[in-house]
Amino acid sequence: MKIIISSIAIILFSISQNNDKEVYICVSSTATKYHLTKTCKGLDECTHTIKKVTLKQANELGYKNLCGWEKKFN
Ligand SMILES: [Zn+2]
Repeated sequence: MKIIISSIAIILFSISQNNDKEVYICVSSTATKYHLTKTCKGLDECTHTIKKVTLKQANELGYKNLCGWEKKFN
């Protein structure tokens, strides 16, 4: 039982950590993807403001997916 509780704690901890992860978004009405690095190729195409937000904020703003360039390496 103790093992189950600690596993749940670890899972919850990793989820919250994941949400606090900082990502980069291109502030544009057509952008739907977030980026892990500011130097990402995908952000080169961004002609708008690049903003640093947490993954949670990015998801709330409608940036649900990791960009195609970075997906290849993860
Ligand atoms: Zn990217």
